[in-house]
Amino acid sequence: MGSEERAAFSGAGRACPGKQGLPQPAQEADRETDERFMREALRLAQEAAAEGEVPVGAVVVRGGEIVGRGRNRRERGKTALAHAELEAIAGACRTLGGWRLWQCTLYVTLEPCPMCAGAIINARLPRLVFGASDPKAGSCGSVVDLFALPYNHHPAVTCGVLAEESAELLRGFFRSLRGK
Ligand SMILES: [Zn+2]
Repeated sequence: MGSEERAAFSGAGRACPGKQGLPQPAQEADRETDERFMREALRLAQEAAAEGEVPVGAVVVRGGEIVGRGRNRRERGKTALAHAELEAIAGACRTLGGWRLWQCTLYVTLEPCPMCAGAIINARLPRLVFGASDPKAGSCGSVVDLFALPYNHHPAVTCGVLAEESAELLRGFFRSLRGK
């Protein structure tokens, strides 16, 4: 993806996407827990950036424990499929020994694309928490809200958790690319 097309990630202070009032901003009761796990996702995103990958990180959590971790590896992996969410979901399926992640929450620093939103539906994840919105590819309210369509599973979504940190990490990454 070009740096120009990645210019407009929205962080704090922006309304969350979603035409039907979803996703909702984080509820105060969950915010501390959500921020704790989003920090780990951000740490993974920073690892990605250090390897020249677009900085996106994700974790899957069950019962207060991280059971899957992922970060973007498209460049090194030379594959369009190596998104942070898919890696975290695959890890959680391995850890838990099954494909249904029905007791888990996925945390990701950037609003999922259609491929990853589809994986969230397929894994039966009941809850998604994301940071920055992605007006170019976000499929949980920005471009489209896949979770509002009549599929067989409808995850709850919390958005905007550490959104400014996530968006600034992405903006900084593309600034540094332009500076090279
Ligand atoms: Zn994706």
